[in-house]
Amino acid sequence: MKAITIPADFEVQPIDPKDPNAIDPATCGTCGLTWDDGIPTSWTPAPSGRCPFEYFHPETETEDVFRLYVRTGNAAFADDPAPELARILRAIADRVESGEDLSHYLTVFDVNGNDVGRFALKEEDA
Ligand SMILES: [Zn+2]
Repeated sequence: MKAITIPADFEVQPIDPKDPNAIDPATCGTCGLTWDDGIPTSWTPAPSGRCPFEYFHPETETEDVFRLYVRTGNAAFADDPAPELARILRAIADRVESGEDLSHYLTVFDVNGNDVGRFALKEEDA
């Protein structure tokens, strides 16, 4: 949750959530601000689940995340998974470095050519 500023001339102003004079305090789960929903304005009472400060909400920020999973249950990993896992990680590092398009999931292959996982660099799921 990110602090936002409401312009002083906006019709609805944030109040202290514990304001004893508030008629019907409501708090937004997105911006965390509280307003008095008991004061009729062109924005309040706000429809259920809405916030009068929505216009001032920050745009949702997304971040790219590198995800990788490798299933290590098959023969290539049987005795000691470390060497094969290390080989796979090096191969993935080469593919990442080569400029392959990582924006969709790519297949991870073990030394025997079996599909054992996926990796991608994509926006974090909201
Ligand atoms: Zn809000």
